[in-house]
Amino acid sequence: MHSSSFSDLALHPSIHRALARQGYQRPTPIQQAAIPEVLAGKDLLATAQTGTGKTAAFSLPMLHRLNEEPASGNTLPRALILTPTRELALQIDESLRNYGHHLPLRTAVVVGGVPAPPQIRKLRQGADIVVATPGRLLDLLNQRHVRLGGVEMLVLDEADRMLDMGFIRDVRKIVSATPRQRQTLFFSATLSREIAQLAADMLNQPAKVEITPSASVSDDIAQQVLFVEQNNKRALLTKMLKSGDIPRALVFTRTKHRANRISRQLASNGISADAIHSNKSQNARQSALAAFDRGQVKVLVATDIVARGIDVEGISHVINYELPNDPESYVHRIGRTARAGAMGTALSFCNAEEVALLKGIEKLTQSPLTAVEDHPFHSSAIAAQRQNPSAPAQRQNQPRGPRRQGQQKNTTRGQRQTATAQRQERKVARSPRPAQPATTAPPAPAPAPLAFGRKRRPAAN
Ligand code: AMP
Repeated sequence: MHSSSFSDLALHPSIHRALARQGYQRPTPIQQAAIPEVLAGKDLLATAQTGTGKTAAFSLPMLHRLNEEPASGNTLPRALILTPTRELALQIDESLRNYGHHLPLRTAVVVGGVPAPPQIRKLRQGADIVVATPGRLLDLLNQRHVRLGGVEMLVLDEADRMLDMGFIRDVRKIVSATPRQRQTLFFSATLSREIAQLAADMLNQPAKVEITPSASVSDDIAQQVLFVEQNNKRALLTKMLKSGDIPRALVFTRTKHRANRISRQLASNGISADAIHSNKSQNARQSALAAFDRGQVKVLVATDIVARGIDVEGISHVINYELPNDPESYVHRIGRTARAGAMGTALSFCNAEEVALLKGIEKLTQSPLTAVEDHPFHSSAIAAQRQNPSAPAQRQNQPRGPRRQGQQKNTTRGQRQTATAQRQERKVARSPRPAQPATTAPPAPAPAPLAFGRKRRPAAN
């Protein structure tokens, strides 16, 4: 049985006070499931992603336990939280300071991209909890600026992301510098074989908690796809952002280079925009996020690596300028909208080469994206390709001019296939709906009424 109210959780009264101050009314499912296990001293293997309240799920019982059990008298850190990005580390530290507002516990943040001396000074003064990204912490460990022999509690946050980012050797080295006798809490959005192995190496008979399947998408997000040639994407994005229907947008690209370029192009078109990615200094990232949060910057262009660190309320639209290679990244990207009970829209620009990625996304999420056709750059050939993968929609990209014989033949077959797809589409539109919803996505027969607009919450009753 899990508690459904914070008062059912045996946390220190001053933590309850801090939670009330935060306006939290009841624990989220991950908190309900994890907190009692951690308070009981067990190791934990939790499958949960950002947005589920996982930070409080490990922070609250950590603060409680450190406060309950007397410190040994030295200044060594008693708890270590490893997380993949600077943004996440700063957010975790802020949460710890909020939740532990009335407790005498000190935190320190150890992250790369900023000068090390202030971090070293803080560690010397003594910190009960260290929140760190692996690279900088390993540097400080190697230089003997930090000792981890006093760690009683260890958290691995977003372990799958740390693995993706190539931190796994650093993580293993850091973990081997902590005592064997410790409590370990392992959080990951996904549980691949590699992650399961890492968890098995680090955990001792863990309690297992699985919350949201990694592919679940909130019903509060309207997911739409716009079929568009690659070389029209920029014009489409500019037009949409100038339409006035998009108050605050997060745009995703696959590369840092393109994120920079798009943000510059938008700015030169009079749209306030900035880029955020892992090549930017921490200060630049923080100030871009703060300006976005305050509404001074309307559009933030980001790459996947920083997606999870963006916890800004009021993002009305997530725009996938390019679809991610990995369908799970799509889920993380669009989860930046529809936060704190709001509704949101996720728009995906899909060129001919990305149709296969779109199918992968729909397969993972089991929720078809609605096609939006009433925009000036709609490509019906790419739309047809969604239905019929062999339709050579890319041909539209080629310059007009005399064709060689083989090309002509291909194009003719392509046109026949496209026409067949369109006939099939019309047939789908005419035929009655199947009793069971299809798991793969049929193209929307009519233009979506929601084009560019925000999904509206249905009126209550
Ligand atoms: P996380 O998954 O830890 O990134 O948390 C997502 C967001 O949920 C953060 O903005 C937290 O402040 C918020 N949050 C966490 N737990 C609760 C709760 N029990 N009630 C309301 N908000 C919460």
